[in-house]
Amino acid sequence: MPGPRALRELRLVNGSTGDPALFVDDPGRDNALLFDCGENAALADDRLADLEAVFLTHHHIDHFIGFDRILRANIDRDKALHVHGPEGTIRKVYQRIKSYEFPFFPFQKIVLEVVEIAPDRLRRARLECARRFPRPRPIESPRSGPVVYRSDGLCVEAALADHTVPCLSYALVEGPAESPDARIAYVTDTAWSESSRPGLLELARGARRLYCDAFYADAQRAQAEKYRHMTATQAAEFAREAGVEELVLIHFASRYRGAYQALVDEARVIFPNTVAEIPAIPSKNPARDAKHR
Ligand SMILES: [Zn+2]
Ligand SMILES: [Zn+2]
Repeated sequence: MPGPRALRELRLVNGSTGDPALFVDDPGRDNALLFDCGENAALADDRLADLEAVFLTHHHIDHFIGFDRILRANIDRDKALHVHGPEGTIRKVYQRIKSYEFPFFPFQKIVLEVVEIAPDRLRRARLECARRFPRPRPIESPRSGPVVYRSDGLCVEAALADHTVPCLSYALVEGPAESPDARIAYVTDTAWSESSRPGLLELARGARRLYCDAFYADAQRAQAEKYRHMTATQAAEFAREAGVEELVLIHFASRYRGAYQALVDEARVIFPNTVAEIPAIPSKNPARDAKHR
């Protein structure tokens, strides 16, 4: 018998500067989780085929474009893949699927269990490949409490974000419900506003790690408000107030390319245990650089 699930791998698929995608796995088992479906070319098909559940924050292209590769990597699997997202998710996932043709192969057995999370209710729909994906018939139920998904040894909570479109933030909680061992919060594409703050604080309270939107520097706070994102300073204030252990900044705007470290430094003034994954800037002309090294 395998022991309890341990989430040993937490991987920002594209670092802090590329499309948002957080891959969470206990390697060797078919139960990986993915928060956001940004570009995921850095994940091999066999890793995507390990997925048990996907959690979309919203449907902007940088959070949803990777969905097709996930479907393709899992289409021959005889399993259910759970897909969660905000209002509109059932229709949008269905439309994405229906943009392809599905010749009937009996081995294409994937079932998508899609759950749409609204403030006060859940809508569920089953999208079945073996039936060539007929139009879904969602079933509604009232929503009570923050938990939206439970699986062997963990649960996932959702809170409403405050973005330009319906948007959610998530927390992964490991361990038994009575005494959870660890909480990992994933918060992106939200303003740090009166409406979002209470739910986000509850979601991230005492987290071992908070992945948080830092799209802008605080000098661009007006843009952050306009486009409903957070600044690095706001992410740090959030981390401090929620009492998290570590803050990982994500989703840096490309306008800061070459100066991403300034966003980390800005947050560290308020919350010292702040990190980010910043790639070295690839050269525009590697051949020339090699000559002049
Ligand atoms: Zn985004
Ligand atoms: Zn967005």
